[in-house]
Amino acid sequence: MRLSVVVPCFNEEASVERLHSAVIEALADLPDVDVELVYVDDGSEDGTLDALRRLATRDPSVRYTALSRNFGKEAAMLAGLKRATGDAVVIMDADLQHPPRLLPEMVTLYRQGFDQVIARRDRHGDRFLRTLASRSFYRIVNWWIDVRLQDGAGDFRLLSRVAVDAVLAMPEYNRFSKGLFSWIGFRTVVVAHRNETRQAGRSRWSFGKLFNYAFDGLLSFNNRPLRLAIYGGLFLTLIAVGYMAWVVADAVEKGIDVPGYTTIIVSVIGLGGIQMMILGVIGEYIGRIYYETKRRPHYLVQETEHLVTETGPASR
Ligand code: UDP
Ligand code: MG
Repeated sequence: MRLSVVVPCFNEEASVERLHSAVIEALADLPDVDVELVYVDDGSEDGTLDALRRLATRDPSVRYTALSRNFGKEAAMLAGLKRATGDAVVIMDADLQHPPRLLPEMVTLYRQGFDQVIARRDRHGDRFLRTLASRSFYRIVNWWIDVRLQDGAGDFRLLSRVAVDAVLAMPEYNRFSKGLFSWIGFRTVVVAHRNETRQAGRSRWSFGKLFNYAFDGLLSFNNRPLRLAIYGGLFLTLIAVGYMAWVVADAVEKGIDVPGYTTIIVSVIGLGGIQMMILGVIGEYIGRIYYETKRRPHYLVQETEHLVTETGPASR
């Protein structure tokens, strides 16, 4: 069988070499597996691309795609999936947080007939606050959206050709891979592994970015937030009608009496806030439609191991 290993890299010059040897070593015991490594340089500003060029000249199983700028991990993964030619494709991070020693087990499970082998990490060594935030995120998301996401299950997974083609057949611009992978289904199995801390470089995920990512997840799988807005509005309207009936009855019974400054201010501000929030939700969806309708490509390619001699720096 042919196995493709897709690795998105953004400023990973310190890691690519190490990851490469680790992958080769992990698969050395599987001689009947023909390996192809597909690296995607996501517009790195360090020597990542040079490292990839060196790898490609040294090792014929290496293919790489350099994007024209940083398009984000989702785009980089997509670029890698498109280039991968294997019967099965593994996606893994460059920073060695996805231990290559799991590869043989993943291949074995693939051979047993699974289309998705998810490597799921525990949260050993993660900061408490982050663990708590992630746990809550998954709880909310799973209650909220139509697909199931698993805590600790990231992008480290093996996909069979069928699964890869299914993912590639989804052309949407806003890609939330965790959700897409779960959405396609197929026979899925999870292997657990211990959390690894990053070996070199640093993570690009700040708390703010994670928060936005969580938000994306909540918004990109259905229109339930809009539904919630409708119910919220209905609820408030009912309260207002009830209160109005009570005020009118009170006024009729006791004669006219007009204090209530506080009530008015509170309700004006409160309702204003709720309306702005709902407008924001609607705006988010319109924004998504806007991006989808532009139909821009997800990424642009600047160089591959073939293109380098034709148009790259080597021929100038
Ligand atoms: N990555 C990428 N483009 C980006 C950010 C990250 O290709 O814009 C890659 C990065 O090189 C790494 C993987 O995505 O291989 C995961 O990134 P990171 O380690 O920063 O995320 P974390 O492990 O903290 O979730
Ligand atoms: Mg990482």
